[in-house]
Formats: sequence, structure tokens, C-alpha cells
Amino acid sequence: MVSGIHRKTVAYIDKKAITANVQQEIQRLDKKAVLYAVVKANGYGHGAIEVARAAKKGGAAGFCVAILDEALELREAGFTEPILILGLVDVAYAELLALNKLSVTISSLAWLEQAREIIKTSKCNQKLAIHVALDTGMGRIGIRTIQELREMEQWLDKNELIYFEGIFTHFATADSSDEKQFEQQAEKFNTLVNSLHRKPPFVHTANSATALWHKSCSSNLIRFGIAMYGLNPSGGALPEPYKLIPAMKISSEVNYIKQMQQGDTIGYGATYSAKEGEWVGTVPIGYGDGWRRDLQGQDVLVDGKRCEIIGRICMDQCMIRLPYEVEEGTEVILVGQSQNQSITLQDIANHLHTIHYEVACGLAARIPRKYV
Ligand SMILES: *Cc1c(COP(=O)(O)O)cnc(C)c1O
Repeated sequence: MVSGIHRKTVAYIDKKAITANVQQEIQRLDKKAVLYAVVKANGYGHGAIEVARAAKKGGAAGFCVAILDEALELREAGFTEPILILGLVDVAYAELLALNKLSVTISSLAWLEQAREIIKTSKCNQKLAIHVALDTGMGRIGIRTIQELREMEQWLDKNELIYFEGIFTHFATADSSDEKQFEQQAEKFNTLVNSLHRKPPFVHTANSATALWHKSCSSNLIRFGIAMYGLNPSGGALPEPYKLIPAMKISSEVNYIKQMQQGDTIGYGATYSAKEGEWVGTVPIGYGDGWRRDLQGQDVLVDGKRCEIIGRICMDQCMIRLPYEVEEGTEVILVGQSQNQSITLQDIANHLHTIHYEVACGLAARIPRKYV
């Protein structure tokens, strides 16, 4: 996939912000708890490898990813820390998992039985570490009953090739001020975990929201994702217990400027008609960069002034209404600060009626990530 390194449109990633966010969270944790940096989906669009480095610098003891390939990417980059894959992996790759010392999430006994056979016949001489997912109300993956858990524990006790490293759940509403669902899930989790005869080394529940707002919830492994990138998991509904520092800035330039006459139109569908004398700039970013077409009407910043995106956003370009004539090459801030004005990923998410997670993940590979 091509990255547009000869174009001015860039996502700048502040590594110090990531390191600082991790450090701040670690300061709040129990001494016995560890933080794993969640770098799935290319580090929420920020770049998995560089984010992993910055997080490690801040004290992250390991990493979480969603899929096997993301784990292998980290191993290939030289990371030897523990890596937990949060999604289900085809059992056919059991040996590959073991050989790369990747911990994997499991949701069924059948998977374990097949994995053991594969590892036994492969003679790879490496145990496979697993974390058992418990579905306590997320309804996604994980076992749901004490009976299933018992059966699994008994099986694990007898099988040397599989290492019972962890057990965990995921909350559906940890970012909400209504705590009813959260309490129900926590109770279910505790009941399930307490039914074990022997607890594995890691018992964990905390994503960012749980870590920030449910400190009492016992977890000796924190799966720290969105907050590490400096974004409030609740989108602002709940206050941050400490200042999260946003890591991403997106900037581009005005690469063409012109003055319009009354009634001149802008963009596909000619949906915008200019007023006499308006200055309009073109910015080289569009929906082919993940700068979604629905962002028509959103502001960008030029010289600390808010400028509206006018007309439809094209695949590779969009147009903005300028307050006055500016030089070609003038910087355009799409996400970030300019003088006393700022536009956050949350603002973009609000405009799109979605969450900042999706905006960050949706930025295309065509936008180069530069690390500062
Ligand atoms: C993605 C994910 C996380 C991280 O969530 P954030 O809200 O980004 O902190 C933690 N746990 C699981 C199981 C996940 O899938």
C-alpha cells in the first residue's frame, strides 16, 4: 500500500504523549498489576510498532493485539515482551502461536483439545499459553457458565502442553455513568473466577475505561488502549481522572487558492455556491485517506482561524472557505491546535456521529505517520 510521503498531508504522532499517558496510568496501579499496551489495528491508526516502543518506554510490560498477524508484526520488529491476542485464532495456527510465545484468547474446550493434538504431534517443545475469555455480558466471545469453566479447568489441570496463564472478561459499559450493567458483569465475573480451584497468574477485566473509572475492580493486568492515545474512552461523558495527552495531529496544506465570483460552484453535485469575492482553498486530503465524505461542513484551522469544508469531499481533495487570501503552502490543521483554536478527534467523531476510535482506525495508510 502506498504512503504519500511526497504530499504534505501527514498524521504526526507524539511519542512522548503516549509514554506519558502510560506512565500516568502505571502510577495509579497496585504494585502487583502490570499494564499491557493495546496496539491492535495498527495502534488505533497511530502505527503499532512506534506506539509499542513509546509504551514500553513508559513502562508497559506487554502488548495486546486483536489478530495473529498483528502479534507476528511485533515479534518481527524484535519485541520479546509478552503479547496477548484478544481475538480468537484458528486452531490450525496453534504451533505458530506456541513457537512465537504468543498468548491466545480461548473460548471453548474443543479448541484446546485440537490445539493440544497439534502441539503434541508437532513436537515443537513449547507450551501454549492461553487466557480464558468469560462472557459476562458483552455477548461477544467467552464461556458463560460455571459448568463450562469447571470442565475446562479440570482439562487444563491434566494437560501439560497448555499453560493456563490468564482469565478475563470485557465490560460493555465501563465508559458509562450508569453502573448497573457494569456491576452485574463484575459480579458474574467474580462468581466465575471464584469457582476455580486455582487461579491463573493473570485475572483481568480492565480496558481503559475500567482502569480510569472503576479502580476498585480487581485486575492485575490492565489492557490499556484508547487512553494511551490520549483519548477519553467515554468521549467526554465522564471526566478524565488525570490529563490525557492526545497523541495524534493531522495536518495538510492549502495547495491551490482562488477567488470566486458570485454563484461559482464547488465540488461534485455543485452543492455549494460561492459568494462574490470568496477565497477558496484546496486541501489534498479526501475520503481515500479516510477523511470521510460526511465531514463536509466540518471546520479545519488555518492561521488559527476556523474554515469550513465546503462542497462535497472528493476522494483525494477537499475545498475550504478561507477568511482571506493566503499563500499556497499554508498549513491546514485538520486535527490539532492552531493558536488558540483546536479541533480534536472527538470533534471529528461528533460530526460523523461515531466514536474517536473509529476515526483514528479509519485513517488510510496513504497518510504517512510521522513520529515526533
Ligand atoms: C480493544 C480491547 C481493549 C482496549 O480497549 P480500550 O477501550 O481501547 O482501552 C481491551 N480489552 C479487549 C478485550 C479489547 O478488545
